[in-house]
Amino acid sequence: MPEKASGSSGACLKAGAKVNERTPETTLREEASHLLERIGLAASGLAGPVSLMEVCGTHTVAISRGGLRELLPERVRLLSGPGCPVCVTAQGFIDAAVRLAESGRATLATYGDMLRVPGTTGSLELAKAAGADIRTVYSVLEALELARATPTRPVVFLAVGFETTAPATAVALEEARAAGLTNFFVLDAHKRIVPAMLALTASADVAIDGFIAPGHVSVVIGLAPYEPVARGGRPCVVAGFEPVDVLEAIALLLEMLAAGRSEVRNQYRRAVRPEGNPTARAELDAVFAVVPAEWRGLGFIADSGFSLREEFRRFDARDAFGIEVVAAPELPGCRCGQVLRGALEPRECPLFGHGCTPAHPHGPCMVSREGSCGIAYRFRAAPSDSSARPAPQPGGGER
Ligand code: SF4
Repeated sequence: MPEKASGSSGACLKAGAKVNERTPETTLREEASHLLERIGLAASGLAGPVSLMEVCGTHTVAISRGGLRELLPERVRLLSGPGCPVCVTAQGFIDAAVRLAESGRATLATYGDMLRVPGTTGSLELAKAAGADIRTVYSVLEALELARATPTRPVVFLAVGFETTAPATAVALEEARAAGLTNFFVLDAHKRIVPAMLALTASADVAIDGFIAPGHVSVVIGLAPYEPVARGGRPCVVAGFEPVDVLEAIALLLEMLAAGRSEVRNQYRRAVRPEGNPTARAELDAVFAVVPAEWRGLGFIADSGFSLREEFRRFDARDAFGIEVVAAPELPGCRCGQVLRGALEPRECPLFGHGCTPAHPHGPCMVSREGSCGIAYRFRAAPSDSSARPAPQPGGGER
């Protein structure tokens, strides 16, 4: 089954879920039904309740879109982890970006969902409304084009995202160097997901029994980086993004846990090769060194970030503009840190829906389309109420 194209199915999956065009819906329903049987069987062999964590915002969407939580046995709990790159970006980085925008010294190029993340004293959106030169881009290459088109104006790209998007930033920097650009800069907050997973396994306030590992990140990094997590007793299954993909990953995790095994498995074999993408990793290695990085809610984690190597240092906005990223606490009342650790469900935050909504977000987890709170808010209706569900987001994916 793992290599089959899959889509939505199951009693709660039929409404509002995207159906893969290549697979008839009846087949998908049968597939989901079979997977739920496997899940039920494996769960009955467990010694007690288990918690599985997904660390990818697109998986969080698939789980909510398919109503998967409601389909699982009571003893199987799904937790959402730090899978949203905008959400895990530290408050101090947001503040530094706002300060740079307000200074007027550069054009900032950023993904749209970064605009609305509340900083300590404002947001990029407010800075833009007050006249700061901030452009929304869909990729780093757009930012590079902007720099080419405005050679006398510095352009700073806010580089957030995991190993999925970091190679594109590396390619853009190679191109900038080859073209001799002197007005293109990167304010880097790229992150590596596996060190965060390892940090979570040592977390005092959340117990995780296994991980649904991210699909797009794994296209780049392959399977080997997850081995230390599995050796530590938490099995990992790399999963695709249809609800039946996630169901199969859950079945594989529960079967391993019931058998007392902890391994790395690949459910998403139609896209992820065991060795990943060596070319993309070579780009990363050529441009970035691995360094400690600060994560919202998780603090500093060793080897979880990237820093520009010496030969690319002239593109580093921190050096070029003397930017200091100073650690800053979350806004009063914001519980995003706990949500990102899986220690709190979005609805358990007192501000959820009262003082924090997608229209008026109080924390980043409500802003981003990959944020747990925003997803929980968008899918807050009962699973059977398909009219309350938004249409699947085209082009969604990990960054
Ligand atoms: Fe943060 Fe709002 Fe979510 Fe509460 S509801 S954790 S304030 S994003």
